[in-house]
Amino acid sequence: MHNFHNNIFQSQSEPGPSPGLRDNYGRQVTYLRLAITDRCNLRCRYCRPEAGVPFIPHEEILTLEELERLVTLFCNLGITKVRVTGGEPFTRRGCISFLVKLRRVNGLRSLHITTNGVKTARFLDNLKDIRIDGLNLSLDTLDSERFSRITRRNYLDSVLQTLHGSLSREIPLKINSVIQEDTCDEEITKLAALAKQFPITLRFIETMPFSGAKRSGIIVNGNLISRLHRIFPELEEAEDLSPTTARIFSHPGYRGKLGVIQGFSRQFCGTCNKVRITPAGMLKTCLYDNGVLDLKALVRSGADDQEISEAIVACVQNRFVNGHEAERSSYRSTEPSMADIGG
Ligand code: SAM
Repeated sequence: MHNFHNNIFQSQSEPGPSPGLRDNYGRQVTYLRLAITDRCNLRCRYCRPEAGVPFIPHEEILTLEELERLVTLFCNLGITKVRVTGGEPFTRRGCISFLVKLRRVNGLRSLHITTNGVKTARFLDNLKDIRIDGLNLSLDTLDSERFSRITRRNYLDSVLQTLHGSLSREIPLKINSVIQEDTCDEEITKLAALAKQFPITLRFIETMPFSGAKRSGIIVNGNLISRLHRIFPELEEAEDLSPTTARIFSHPGYRGKLGVIQGFSRQFCGTCNKVRITPAGMLKTCLYDNGVLDLKALVRSGADDQEISEAIVACVQNRFVNGHEAERSSYRSTEPSMADIGG
């Protein structure tokens, strides 16, 4: 225990790089995704059932102060990148001042946000001011009728305002587009044209089996990369050795890049550097597990920083080898929504 204590607090007692968080398969964990709310102003058909899901009572959601404390502890342990997500992060009051606080956390080198863009445009100056390292915008179609069918809301104009506002402020931007059973080649071509015109990465995402998404996903997903090669014969895979969930492709004449996120087929588990905290305060060391540590209960029990840190390290050292094993080991009576996980 003595060594363990020394190890996790080494960065405080001895200057120098933190030993970091390494899992039982040797994967360095450096990236934390923080879902700060389960609320969302869209009802995407692959994410939430039309009738919606009951919201988590407010008192069951981690407070922003609790979240900030946890981020500080995670960064002491070796996390260097944090992504704020949800639900829709901008539906939570205080989101921007929370980001300002995170920016000051020791050891946090890279701060990102994932948003649907509905309410984001008004905050772009703030995001620029805090030097946000990246904004991921979810956008599955450029057609307003189809947008309404997919999201069950009519907010495409607001999302496009966020897109163009981010570009004009030179906020580093990625667009995430979920490929669905009825996504046609023309749609893919129109979305890809954004990466032709602008210096952004447009990433196509396999539909994953979470609330609202059908299990038949594999039919849509299996051939996503070969489908892109067919539509864009000049596509070339860019070499990228950093741990990433996306495979990235360049195309002659494009200012930006295209990408594919194979979340359903789980091709990237071997280099997974990510853990998640859900809005209700569960730590997940895999997207497909059911939560491996109740951080909220621990924090609210009065545990001190050392106890919480030790519990986190123990979970990271007991990770599933991949998302298939995590899913097999985690019984689910109903599929959770990505909005409750922090997609
Ligand atoms: N509200 C924010 C947004 O829309 O970007 C953040 C949360 S949202 C759950 C994060 C991402 O998860 C979005 O890009 C969304 O499209 C994606 N997502 C949700 N359900 C999914 C599913 N079943 N399969 C694939 N991606 C999904």
